[in-house]
Amino acid sequence: MKFPDCAIVHRCEICNDRADPHEIVTRGAGGKRVDWNVIYLCLAHHGEFHDRGRTTWAGLYPQFADKIWEACLRAGRGRHDA
Ligand SMILES: [Zn+2]
Ligand SMILES: [Zn+2]
Repeated sequence: MKFPDCAIVHRCEICNDRADPHEIVTRGAGGKRVDWNVIYLCLAHHGEFHDRGRTTWAGLYPQFADKIWEACLRAGRGRHDA
């Protein structure tokens, strides 16, 4: 049985709670809703990302640092800014 995308329950990649996709590089900055630019995060971890900015957040969760850096490069942003 196939569900439409909106019915899929995603899980936070950190704590496994119910999650929504977070775009590492926002659309405004050239990012897209594609695998390499999306991390699934629960409300708490998602808020933390936006509060702290991606550079600080990547320091807290180094398992995502490579993915975040890669997404920045792919989206054409050379600077590792938040
Ligand atoms: Zn979480
Ligand atoms: Zn987000």
